[in-house]
Amino acid sequence: MSEIQASSYDTVQCQTLRIPDTSKPRVVIIGGGFAGVHIARGLAKSPVQVVMIDRYNYHTFQPLLYQVATSGLEPDSIAAPLRKMLESQSNFHFRMATVTQIDTEEQRIIASIGSLRYDYLVLANGSKTNFYGNESIRQKSFPLKQLPQALDLRHHILSSLEQAILSSSIEEQDRLMSFVVVGGGPTGVEVAGALGELKLHVLPKDYPELDLRRMRIHLVEGTDSLLNGMSAASGEEAVKYLERFSVQVWLNTLVSDYNDDVVYLNNGTTIDAHTLIWGAGVMGNLIEGLNPASIFRNNRVKIDAYGKVEGYDNIFAAGDIAALVTEEYPQGHPMVAPVAIQQGQLLAKNLKKIVENKQELGAFVYKDKGSMATVGRNRAVVDLTDKIHFKGVFAWFVWLFVHLMAIVGFRSKLVVLTNWIWNYLTYDRAARLIIRPFVDVKNERRAEE
Ligand SMILES: Cc1cc2nc3c(=O)[nH]c(=O)nc-3n(C[C@H](O)[C@H](O)[C@H](O)COP(=O)(O)OP(=O)(O)OC[C@H]3O[C@@H](n4cnc5c(N)ncnc54)[C@H](O)[C@@H]3O)c2cc1C
Repeated sequence: MSEIQASSYDTVQCQTLRIPDTSKPRVVIIGGGFAGVHIARGLAKSPVQVVMIDRYNYHTFQPLLYQVATSGLEPDSIAAPLRKMLESQSNFHFRMATVTQIDTEEQRIIASIGSLRYDYLVLANGSKTNFYGNESIRQKSFPLKQLPQALDLRHHILSSLEQAILSSSIEEQDRLMSFVVVGGGPTGVEVAGALGELKLHVLPKDYPELDLRRMRIHLVEGTDSLLNGMSAASGEEAVKYLERFSVQVWLNTLVSDYNDDVVYLNNGTTIDAHTLIWGAGVMGNLIEGLNPASIFRNNRVKIDAYGKVEGYDNIFAAGDIAALVTEEYPQGHPMVAPVAIQQGQLLAKNLKKIVENKQELGAFVYKDKGSMATVGRNRAVVDLTDKIHFKGVFAWFVWLFVHLMAIVGFRSKLVVLTNWIWNYLTYDRAARLIIRPFVDVKNERRAEE
């Protein structure tokens, strides 16, 4: 450990998270996402003390972040307080803090508010946006991984239109009304589709003085199809849907740089755009302290089929941060919610068996229930199996139903359903509010995630 690390370690070590010591083994879970919540719930009746640490006091339903960013939903409806979610569990403790380091020798985690000893440590701290080392893009683009980022983007989209209306220069208006979305996965496709809907149905009502036909939406994807990981038919359908919203789709194209509101594409083209939305990749949210031999590609940690991190007997991982390499998944399993949920559920069972000294841990086998994406009202694609694909209105209702059921809490389900019905009937988006502090978010130096 370096001198600087040692001194900050000493300072936080003096601070305490005020978790009572008991005779039960302590399981510390870093992260209250899909994996963390399912692990904590699964340990409800186990003879352990469960301590969850998350930098936020809420669980985020990330698949609907794009709807918050595009004014379709209020932020509260896709977030659930972690304390409330687990309030009935007597062995559960929560602390809001960012974990910065793991000391595997001392069996302690070091967090922004102090340090804590663990008997078993579970890494469930997910992934973060991958900017592939481009600092300019990291600072100037809008990622969509956390709730505050979705609010930043909503603020920025609406503020850009407020600025456009004040400008007497056509070029400046065009730049302010130009949106480039990077990454043709479900996030990019859904954001581009939602922007297309705003352009068609909502913004003309709010900004009748602007010629919104000149608003441009570009979707840039590095490979030769959208929705990689889904069927070719779904990818092709997504292109058709987006083109109906006059979204320009750039396949086989990479964004190489972004400076002074100019997006540079690797084919030599430049696009003047005040907004660059980055949905081009994620990587593990690695916390310092693990042996480098335990780290896999893309900053994920290597786990075995039982969830144990390679090289450690009492450290486990699940969800986006974990890479379980199998013949079928040589890069690790996809970084999606069902994998995190299923790994979390199994890990809770395995931990219970470990503390009870039972043999025969369960090995992870992913049950893939299919994938889906939506491109605005009445338009979605669903791949149920390799052979069963459907699209259009029915697929859209399936998408709505699956997402509604997955949202945490009856109140949030009801609020989301009401919003969706309202948006559907009125072609409106009620949450188009600029309620961020009046700073130019884009020109603020962006902190590391
Ligand atoms: C915009 C978007 C759309 C998506 N759409 C879909 C979809 O349609 N379908 C699908 O299946 N998947 C989707 N995903 C992926 C899915 O959300 C993730 O695979 C899933 O959230 C992973 O769960 P997790 O528990 O591993 O991590 P997360 O859910 O990301 O949870 C990690 C938690 O750890 C906390 N944390 C991180 N670092 C620290 C730290 N150092 N200290 C303390 N706490 C920390 C975070 O605050 C967070 O609460 C989407 C993701 C995004 C970003």
